[in-house]
Amino acid sequence: MAAGPRPPAPEKPWPVRPEILFPLFAPITSLPGVGPRNGRLLEGLAGPHVVDLVWHLPRELVDRRFSPTVAEAPAGRIATLTVRVVAHKPAPDKRRPHRVICEDETGRITLVYFHARGDYLTRLLPENDTRVVSGRVEHYAGAPQIAHPDHVVPLEEAESVRTIEPVYPLAGGLTARVVQRAVAAALERVPDLPEWQDDAFLRRNGWVSWKQAVLDAHAPQSGAALEPAAPSHMRLAYDELLANQLTLLIMRNTAKAAPGRAIDGDRGLTRKALAALPFSLTGAQVQASREIRADMAAPSRMLRLLQGDVGSGKTIVAFFAMLNVVECGGQAAIMAPTEILARQHFDTIEPLAQAVGVQAVLLTGRDKGAARLSLLASLESGEVPLAIGTHALFQEDVRFKDLMLAVIDEQHRFGVHQRLALASKGKGADMLVMTATPIPRTLTLTAYGDLDVSRLTEKPAGRKPVDTRVMAADRLDQVVAAVERALSHAAKVYWVCPLVEDSEVLDLAAAEERFAHLKQRLGADRVVLVHGRMKAAEKDAAIRRFAEGPPAVLVATTVIEVGVDVPDATVMVVEHAERFGLAQLHQLRGRIGRGERASTCLLLYAPPLGETARSRLGVMRDTDDGFVIAEQDLKLRGAGELLGTRQSGLPHFRLADLGAHGDLMATARDDARLILEKDPDLTGPRGAALRVLLYLFERDAAVLNLRSG
Ligand code: ADP
Ligand code: MG
Repeated sequence: MAAGPRPPAPEKPWPVRPEILFPLFAPITSLPGVGPRNGRLLEGLAGPHVVDLVWHLPRELVDRRFSPTVAEAPAGRIATLTVRVVAHKPAPDKRRPHRVICEDETGRITLVYFHARGDYLTRLLPENDTRVVSGRVEHYAGAPQIAHPDHVVPLEEAESVRTIEPVYPLAGGLTARVVQRAVAAALERVPDLPEWQDDAFLRRNGWVSWKQAVLDAHAPQSGAALEPAAPSHMRLAYDELLANQLTLLIMRNTAKAAPGRAIDGDRGLTRKALAALPFSLTGAQVQASREIRADMAAPSRMLRLLQGDVGSGKTIVAFFAMLNVVECGGQAAIMAPTEILARQHFDTIEPLAQAVGVQAVLLTGRDKGAARLSLLASLESGEVPLAIGTHALFQEDVRFKDLMLAVIDEQHRFGVHQRLALASKGKGADMLVMTATPIPRTLTLTAYGDLDVSRLTEKPAGRKPVDTRVMAADRLDQVVAAVERALSHAAKVYWVCPLVEDSEVLDLAAAEERFAHLKQRLGADRVVLVHGRMKAAEKDAAIRRFAEGPPAVLVATTVIEVGVDVPDATVMVVEHAERFGLAQLHQLRGRIGRGERASTCLLLYAPPLGETARSRLGVMRDTDDGFVIAEQDLKLRGAGELLGTRQSGLPHFRLADLGAHGDLMATARDDARLILEKDPDLTGPRGAALRVLLYLFERDAAVLNLRSG
């Protein structure tokens, strides 16, 4: 067999974190001055270990180098002043402050303290002594003052104050000082680590060592040093991205190490099916099919992602891959996340399969008893070559005679282990993952770095773009009137209710209220409700009533996002569109514009609309290209929010900012490839350093998958 497959690794002990990293993985409470209370708060802010504080980078800085005389100190600016303490004026009552009169040769300034203990202040600022004080100067009734100076030190310590100070993000209950001290203590623990990056590469980029980069990032000398483009930030981000890419590649190599099979049919069925298709394939479909066939024909396992908008024709592409398997005498299965979706795939595939004389079955959780057993028997005997279904497909008692290809649709709803569970029902089965989530290229690498990618960027001919309008919600009456007109022209209408602060209960309340309102305006028999709390059967029944019945409005929470296919639905209203992610709006809008008739989408927002929200909705109005939308969303919002945290399955980065460091991701990917080609088990000198990198970013599982881990 060709290069790639390796014998399974021998039993290994659980890998052990290298000793050099021990100080960084000590608990935060092991730092001097961090007690249990602050420890808990810091843990909530950054994480449980010392290293988490090392990753907690400053977002701002305070420049305390400005040292004017009292007379020259401008209001509103941070200044560090050298003054003599003249007199204390203790607080006359609790509501008024303790005041400390100070002066230099040019004038007087008052330090103001509310709720402070007088004896503490007289010790801090003894009368007649000289002190260096730093804080924001204000003018109160024409006289300069500083309320609660940030620093008060004797003259000898002036230099420790006259610096640029990092300012860290805070969380409730923590003061700036506590976080600053804890981070400073964590930085004391930072060891010199062996260099895992290539020397020439570092020099070319002007990057310093890891430790120096950490120290620089915590000691910004200018606003530019806080930016993602600062060399120290780039270096640290690159380290993190390289760890991510190495991990994905190592996992992928492990998956591919299981021997695959060369599947390359005689194309007899393929030709017949092409002739039977009522349309011709798009260029993108042809290209994707070619890539898939080439993978399947290779002796190693295929791990490929097929990415394409809703309606771009992924199912057909998958079907041709399945036919290739049948030509070779094997079986193929396609798994969808919901029963509705599985049924739709079946409805697309079954007639085509029948046209070329190939049997297909549908297997879902609904199949029970004798009918189910006979279905299972037909798969186990190999009599039926194609299976389409839900997760019911990977239950224990489902067996195939020879499963060669597992197709998994809408991957983000499944976990990695579920993908593998289906694939493991065959010996070295090829795997094709399909997703309609238009993840930008940079993010595909982070989330699916272990998969090769084919993209369907072209829509089948004859699709009409959806006319999208953005409107303020205070014109609701007009909207309802427009919906009424649409119904009278035999249109079916989706009415999507807003997300309310991530709460299903509140989502539901909003949907029920709108349902009642629309029933009253349009008539009870013309409005259908469907929401996430309904049982699957109820949901199916409601959707079927909408799909098969006379024109009506389907009031829904976002359950219609995936898998509802009603070609004669041509109008969509989305309430509070500004609360949705763009990717999600795009998925929703993909439910209309599927048939012959022109479609309209009304995105309602609650004014006033912020700058970013306005731009985002503008993107929706101006394009229906999912990839463009995703790229714009990434630019406007940042990766973290892109897909909605609940279902994105995207990794969370501590240092890398995918909006700003996207280019580094591709470099890290190439770098990781080269590294593992030369040293697949990271046993060389650089390999040892790279293992430290993997542990540093807590990718212990990746190390476990290396030989001699
Ligand atoms: P996806 O799975 O990407 O959402 P499907 O494969 O379900 O898309 O295709 C959506 C619809 O478009 C189906 O009814 C399918 O028959 C049709 N279709 C697919 N490819 C083409 C094409 N090249 N030309 C015209 N219609 C197509
Ligand atoms: Mg589909």
